[in-house]
Amino acid sequence: MKRTTRLGIMGGTFDPIHLGHLVAAEEALVQFNLDSVCFMPTGRPARKDDRAVTSPEHRYLMTVIATAANPDFDVSRLEIDRPGLTYTVDTLRVLRETHGPATELFFITGADAVWEIVTWKEAESFRDLATFIAATRPGYDLQTAREEHAEELARIRIEFIEVPALAISSTDIRQRVVERRPIRYLVTESVAAYIRKYELYQEAR
Ligand code: ATP
Ligand code: MG
Repeated sequence: MKRTTRLGIMGGTFDPIHLGHLVAAEEALVQFNLDSVCFMPTGRPARKDDRAVTSPEHRYLMTVIATAANPDFDVSRLEIDRPGLTYTVDTLRVLRETHGPATELFFITGADAVWEIVTWKEAESFRDLATFIAATRPGYDLQTAREEHAEELARIRIEFIEVPALAISSTDIRQRVVERRPIRYLVTESVAAYIRKYELYQEAR
Protein backbone atom coordinates (compact mmCIF):
# COMPACT_ATOMS: atom_id res chain seq x y z
CA MET A 1 0.00 0.00 0.00
CA LYS A 2 1.27 3.45 -0.91
CA ARG A 3 2.11 5.55 2.10
CA THR A 4 0.44 8.95 2.44
CA THR A 5 1.83 11.86 0.48
CA ARG A 6 3.31 14.65 2.59
CA LEU A 7 2.75 17.96 0.86
CA GLY A 8 4.34 21.20 2.09
CA ILE A 9 2.69 24.52 1.26
CA MET A 10 4.67 27.74 1.45
CA GLY A 11 2.24 30.63 1.30
CA GLY A 12 3.47 34.16 0.87
CA THR A 13 3.19 37.46 -0.92
CA PHE A 14 6.62 36.79 -2.45
CA ASP A 15 7.09 40.46 -3.31
CA PRO A 16 9.79 39.38 -4.11
CA ILE A 17 10.62 35.76 -3.21
CA HIS A 18 14.02 35.63 -1.44
CA LEU A 19 16.52 33.10 -0.11
CA GLY A 20 14.85 33.09 3.32
CA HIS A 21 11.72 31.59 1.74
CA LEU A 22 13.76 29.05 -0.23
CA VAL A 23 15.89 27.99 2.74
CA ALA A 24 12.81 27.62 4.97
CA ALA A 25 11.07 25.45 2.35
CA GLU A 26 14.13 23.26 1.80
CA GLU A 27 14.67 22.86 5.54
CA ALA A 28 11.01 21.88 6.06
CA LEU A 29 11.19 19.46 3.12
CA VAL A 30 14.17 17.61 4.58
CA GLN A 31 13.32 17.76 8.30
CA PHE A 32 9.71 16.64 7.79
CA ASN A 33 10.39 14.19 4.98
CA LEU A 34 7.96 16.00 2.67
CA ASP A 35 7.43 14.76 -0.89
CA SER A 36 7.36 18.29 -2.29
CA VAL A 37 6.79 21.90 -1.35
CA CYS A 38 4.23 23.93 -3.25
CA PHE A 39 4.81 27.70 -3.24
CA MET A 40 1.53 29.56 -3.23
CA PRO A 41 1.74 33.27 -4.04
CA THR A 42 -1.22 35.13 -2.54
CA GLY A 43 -3.77 36.91 -4.69
CA ARG A 44 -4.84 39.91 -2.65
CA PRO A 45 -3.41 39.14 0.78
CA ALA A 46 -6.06 39.69 3.45
CA ARG A 47 -3.57 41.12 5.90
CA LYS A 48 -1.54 43.30 3.52
CA ASP A 49 -4.16 45.54 1.95
CA ASP A 50 -2.45 48.58 3.48
CA ARG A 51 0.27 48.76 0.85
CA ALA A 52 0.27 48.46 -2.93
CA VAL A 53 1.44 44.94 -3.75
CA THR A 54 3.18 44.14 -7.05
CA SER A 55 0.93 42.48 -9.66
CA PRO A 56 0.19 38.79 -9.04
CA GLU A 57 1.68 37.84 -12.41
CA HIS A 58 5.08 39.38 -11.57
CA ARG A 59 5.09 37.74 -8.13
CA TYR A 60 4.03 34.40 -9.60
CA LEU A 61 6.72 34.48 -12.31
CA MET A 62 9.47 35.44 -9.85
CA THR A 63 8.39 32.49 -7.69
CA VAL A 64 8.53 30.19 -10.73
CA ILE A 65 12.01 31.25 -11.83
CA ALA A 66 13.39 31.16 -8.27
CA THR A 67 12.19 27.57 -7.73
CA ALA A 68 12.55 26.19 -11.27
CA ALA A 69 15.80 24.30 -10.69
CA ASN A 70 14.53 22.40 -7.65
CA PRO A 71 12.65 19.21 -8.62
CA ASP A 72 10.96 19.12 -5.18
CA PHE A 73 9.49 22.63 -5.51
CA ASP A 74 6.29 23.55 -7.39
CA VAL A 75 4.31 26.77 -7.73
CA SER A 76 0.53 27.01 -7.63
CA ARG A 77 -1.74 29.59 -9.26
CA LEU A 78 -4.62 28.63 -6.98
CA GLU A 79 -4.68 31.83 -4.92
CA ILE A 80 -3.72 34.31 -7.64
CA ASP A 81 -6.47 32.99 -9.91
CA ARG A 82 -9.10 33.28 -7.20
CA PRO A 83 -10.89 36.64 -6.99
CA GLY A 84 -11.22 38.55 -3.72
CA LEU A 85 -9.11 38.57 -0.60
CA THR A 86 -6.92 35.57 0.20
CA TYR A 87 -7.59 33.54 3.34
CA THR A 88 -5.27 30.63 4.08
CA VAL A 89 -8.10 28.60 5.60
CA ASP A 90 -9.96 28.63 2.24
CA THR A 91 -6.84 27.52 0.38
CA LEU A 92 -6.21 24.67 2.80
CA ARG A 93 -9.82 23.54 2.44
CA VAL A 94 -9.54 23.44 -1.36
CA LEU A 95 -6.28 21.50 -1.10
CA ARG A 96 -7.82 19.06 1.40
CA GLU A 97 -10.69 18.41 -0.99
CA THR A 98 -8.61 18.07 -4.16
CA HIS A 99 -5.91 15.88 -2.61
CA GLY A 100 -8.09 13.68 -0.41
CA PRO A 101 -7.25 11.82 2.80
CA ALA A 102 -4.08 10.17 1.43
CA THR A 103 -2.30 13.54 1.46
CA GLU A 104 -1.06 15.15 4.65
CA LEU A 105 -0.74 18.94 4.45
CA PHE A 106 2.04 20.98 6.10
CA PHE A 107 1.77 24.77 6.03
CA ILE A 108 5.19 26.42 6.29
CA THR A 109 5.35 29.90 7.78
CA GLY A 110 7.62 32.22 9.74
CA ALA A 111 7.27 31.83 13.52
CA ASP A 112 6.33 35.49 13.98
CA ALA A 113 3.43 35.05 11.56
CA VAL A 114 2.19 32.06 13.59
CA TRP A 115 0.98 34.24 16.44
CA GLU A 116 -1.25 36.06 13.96
CA ILE A 117 -2.61 32.77 12.65
CA VAL A 118 -5.12 32.32 15.43
CA THR A 119 -6.62 35.71 14.66
CA TRP A 120 -7.26 34.54 11.10
CA LYS A 121 -10.68 33.68 9.85
CA GLU A 122 -11.89 30.37 11.35
CA ALA A 123 -8.61 29.54 13.04
CA GLU A 124 -10.23 26.65 14.88
CA SER A 125 -10.54 24.64 11.63
CA PHE A 126 -6.80 24.63 11.05
CA ARG A 127 -6.27 21.68 13.37
CA ASP A 128 -8.19 19.39 11.00
CA LEU A 129 -6.68 20.79 7.82
CA ALA A 130 -2.91 20.98 8.23
CA THR A 131 0.13 20.88 10.50
CA PHE A 132 2.00 24.16 10.73
CA ILE A 133 5.78 24.22 10.36
CA ALA A 134 7.03 27.47 11.87
CA ALA A 135 10.47 28.76 10.91
CA THR A 136 12.45 30.37 13.74
CA ARG A 137 15.82 32.07 13.60
CA PRO A 138 18.76 30.48 15.47
CA GLY A 139 18.72 31.80 19.04
CA TYR A 140 14.94 32.42 19.00
CA ASP A 141 13.63 31.87 22.52
CA LEU A 142 11.19 29.11 21.68
CA GLN A 143 10.55 28.18 25.31
CA THR A 144 9.38 31.68 26.26
CA ALA A 145 7.36 32.02 23.05
CA ARG A 146 5.64 28.69 23.77
CA GLU A 147 4.74 29.83 27.28
CA GLU A 148 3.50 33.24 26.14
CA HIS A 149 1.35 31.77 23.37
CA ALA A 150 0.20 28.59 25.10
CA GLU A 151 -3.44 29.39 24.45
CA GLU A 152 -2.97 29.90 20.71
CA LEU A 153 -0.71 26.85 20.44
CA ALA A 154 -3.41 24.64 21.93
CA ARG A 155 -5.67 25.44 18.98
CA ILE A 156 -3.34 24.30 16.19
CA ARG A 157 -0.92 21.51 15.34
CA ILE A 158 2.51 23.09 15.08
CA GLU A 159 6.18 22.12 14.79
CA PHE A 160 9.20 24.45 14.85
CA ILE A 161 12.33 24.47 12.69
CA GLU A 162 15.44 26.64 12.78
CA VAL A 163 16.23 28.54 9.60
CA PRO A 164 19.58 30.37 9.30
CA ALA A 165 18.53 32.98 6.68
CA LEU A 166 15.63 34.44 8.63
CA ALA A 167 16.88 38.03 8.74
CA ILE A 168 16.13 38.42 5.01
CA SER A 169 12.79 40.09 4.24
CA SER A 170 11.00 41.26 1.10
CA THR A 171 10.49 44.65 2.75
CA ASP A 172 14.26 45.09 3.11
CA ILE A 173 14.85 43.95 -0.48
CA ARG A 174 12.32 46.46 -1.86
CA GLN A 175 13.94 49.18 0.24
CA ARG A 176 17.37 48.21 -1.05
CA VAL A 177 16.20 48.51 -4.66
CA VAL A 178 14.79 51.97 -3.96
CA GLU A 179 18.09 53.02 -2.40
CA ARG A 180 20.22 51.37 -5.14
CA ARG A 181 21.85 49.07 -2.58
CA PRO A 182 22.73 45.44 -3.52
CA ILE A 183 20.24 42.58 -3.40
CA ARG A 184 22.67 40.02 -4.81
CA TYR A 185 22.89 36.91 -2.56
CA LEU A 186 19.57 37.83 -0.92
CA VAL A 187 17.51 36.75 -3.93
CA THR A 188 18.41 34.31 -6.73
CA GLU A 189 20.27 35.79 -9.72
CA SER A 190 17.21 35.03 -11.85
CA VAL A 191 14.98 37.11 -9.57
CA ALA A 192 17.51 39.96 -9.41
CA ALA A 193 17.59 39.99 -13.24
CA TYR A 194 13.78 39.90 -13.40
CA ILE A 195 13.54 42.89 -11.01
CA ARG A 196 15.99 44.83 -13.20
CA LYS A 197 14.26 43.86 -16.45
CA TYR A 198 10.81 45.02 -15.32
CA GLU A 199 12.16 47.85 -13.16
CA LEU A 200 10.26 46.65 -10.09
CA TYR A 201 10.51 48.42 -6.72
CA GLN A 202 12.19 51.52 -8.20
CA GLU A 203 10.05 53.98 -6.28
CA ALA A 204 9.26 54.03 -2.55
CA ARG A 205 5.58 53.30 -1.93
P1 ATP B 1 7.34 41.34 3.76
O1 ATP B 1 8.61 41.94 4.28
O2 ATP B 1 6.77 42.06 2.59
O3 ATP B 1 6.34 41.04 4.83
P2 ATP B 1 8.39 38.66 3.84
O4 ATP B 1 9.86 38.67 3.63
O5 ATP B 1 7.90 38.51 5.23
O6 ATP B 1 7.77 39.93 3.13
P3 ATP B 1 6.27 37.07 2.85
O7 ATP B 1 5.96 36.82 1.42
O8 ATP B 1 5.41 37.97 3.63
O9 ATP B 1 7.79 37.57 2.91
O10 ATP B 1 6.46 35.71 3.63
C1 ATP B 1 5.94 34.47 3.25
C2 ATP B 1 6.19 33.49 4.36
O11 ATP B 1 7.59 33.29 4.53
C3 ATP B 1 5.67 33.96 5.74
O12 ATP B 1 5.19 32.85 6.43
C4 ATP B 1 6.92 34.51 6.40
O13 ATP B 1 6.83 34.45 7.81
C5 ATP B 1 7.99 33.59 5.87
N1 ATP B 1 9.29 34.22 5.79
C6 ATP B 1 9.57 35.48 5.40
N2 ATP B 1 10.87 35.73 5.43
C7 ATP B 1 11.46 34.59 5.86
C8 ATP B 1 12.83 34.21 6.10
N3 ATP B 1 13.84 35.06 5.91
N4 ATP B 1 13.06 32.95 6.51
C9 ATP B 1 12.03 32.09 6.72
N5 ATP B 1 10.73 32.38 6.52
C10 ATP B 1 10.45 33.62 6.09
MG1 MG C 1 6.04 39.09 5.96
